[in-house]
Amino acid sequence: TDILDIQRIRADFPILDQLVNGKQLVYFDNAATTQKPLSVLQAISGYYGGYNANIHRGIHQLAEKATSAFEATRQKFQEFLNARHLEEIIFTYGTTDGINLVAQSYGRRFLNAGDEIIISTLEHHSNIVPWQMLCEEKGCILKVIPIDDNGDLLIDEYEKLLSERTKLVSVVHVSNALGTINPVKTIIDKAHAAGAVVLIDGAQASSHITLDVQALDCDFYSLSAHKLYGPTGMGVLYGKKALLEAMPPYRGGGEMIKEVTFEKTTYNDLPYKFEAGTPNIADVIAARTALEYIEGLGKENIAAYEHELLVYATEKLSQIEGLRIIGQAREKVSVISFVLDGIHHQDTGVILDQLGIAVRTGHHCTQPLMRRLGVAGTSRASFAVYNTREEIDRLAQGILRVQKMMM
Ligand code: PMP
Repeated sequence: TDILDIQRIRADFPILDQLVNGKQLVYFDNAATTQKPLSVLQAISGYYGGYNANIHRGIHQLAEKATSAFEATRQKFQEFLNARHLEEIIFTYGTTDGINLVAQSYGRRFLNAGDEIIISTLEHHSNIVPWQMLCEEKGCILKVIPIDDNGDLLIDEYEKLLSERTKLVSVVHVSNALGTINPVKTIIDKAHAAGAVVLIDGAQASSHITLDVQALDCDFYSLSAHKLYGPTGMGVLYGKKALLEAMPPYRGGGEMIKEVTFEKTTYNDLPYKFEAGTPNIADVIAARTALEYIEGLGKENIAAYEHELLVYATEKLSQIEGLRIIGQAREKVSVISFVLDGIHHQDTGVILDQLGIAVRTGHHCTQPLMRRLGVAGTSRASFAVYNTREEIDRLAQGILRVQKMMM
């Protein structure tokens, strides 16, 4: 796309302009975490340097300023997700934290022995382990939607798993390991028809796909700001109001209460019921700046440009003999996982790093998926809006270098 001026965008990310092992850095580990633009860094230091105060409690100037900046982020995420109500936006520490909240609050209250939970083969460990913990405690049963060799979910098999025993379905919107975009709307509708609630792990989708939780009709949606050009330690759990209201708090402490006596405590209203203790104020505030940054570029523009990078890189890497792209799903975001014949992914990663190219290698927190695909791990290049075709050329040359050195 010519709509985005990539060189100008790169200037917003000074971290990109550095030498690694004597070579200009190529940062292709965006699925793990994206870099942060200057405006986000300034929002963090602006809070600590200008109006650091605890929120909601004080009536003094700084506390009021901090509180309104903090709450402005909630509003921004309501728009970002198109949630119907402001109080459906719960601040968390990230996707993992949001999933654990649902498992520990909704799951412990509403699921019982023999109830079934459905996840998929594509899940990140953070959308597997919290459900296994719940199953162990409550005697629920975990079912897994299988995939085909391309990394697409087998929807027919999913339908067979659904029954009146299904109480909860939790699937990833976009696979971090392969880039697969799942047909979540279909998954959600079928789950609802069976009477189950649905959580969507949006850690990877949120930076690439325009989201509308009302159109999706998901019951919960969990994401992390750090994959959205925002800070770490900050995320959002969206939940439908009626469900959140029916759920018990998950952590006790300050902020989440209405009144405390030693005999009985009453809980605060949404969303504060789920936000015990002093939150990560600076990073919540800066997350709004990150969303504004995305908005400024236009999410559709970002997605279109990333798609161009994906097409270019797929073509380029497909030409390399002995390279196999893992996961050729029908619909993908800008993630390419690959293996090189006869070369361990760890060696690939180390040599690429020597060339200044940052990729992720290993199982990508998806060990069951790697097992299903019959690989020990992969090398993964994932692209963000500040990446370029020239960088993809460098990766392709780097891979040839790896092959030469290892053969
Ligand atoms: N799910 C997916 C698909 C992810 O990619 C990640 C992050 N790698 C997570 C969940 C967990 O996110 P976080 O570590 O920010 O909690």
